[in-house]
Amino acid sequence: MDNCIFCEIVSRKLPSKIEYEDDDVIVFQNINPVAPVHVLIVPKKHIVNLSDATEEDEKVLGKTLLVAKQVSEKLGISSAFRIAVANGEDAGQSVFHLHFHLTGGWKEKYNGGEDET
Ligand code: AMP
Ligand code: ZN
Repeated sequence: MDNCIFCEIVSRKLPSKIEYEDDDVIVFQNINPVAPVHVLIVPKKHIVNLSDATEEDEKVLGKTLLVAKQVSEKLGISSAFRIAVANGEDAGQSVFHLHFHLTGGWKEKYNGGEDET
């Protein structure tokens, strides 16, 4: 997909700090983290958001959650993490290539911060 920053990260046209990659999924550091640990779990296929997903995407959608588990272990946050997805502009989606925010690493118990993702 042209003009999609996450497709450009997948194809290495844009740099990123990659934490995990396989044939279907890539995980990289968020350029503007809102938690001590904040990575993005991204299906490589250009799916706009969950509303754009189909049954064809069932396998990759399931895989993203297992990748989240694996990356949470790699980044040392497996005991406490959150996964969030913004679906649509009015929900705060700003990049229109499906991605799951994986956050964690808080020093104290998570308190439901307003803008926390
Ligand atoms: P959302 O607002 O839910 O669509 O999330 C988009 C996320 O992508 C934001 O948290 C941004 O900080 C992040 N982001 C935007 N551009 C980049 C980039 N080039 N590399 C890494 N993360 C990015
Ligand atoms: Zn894309």
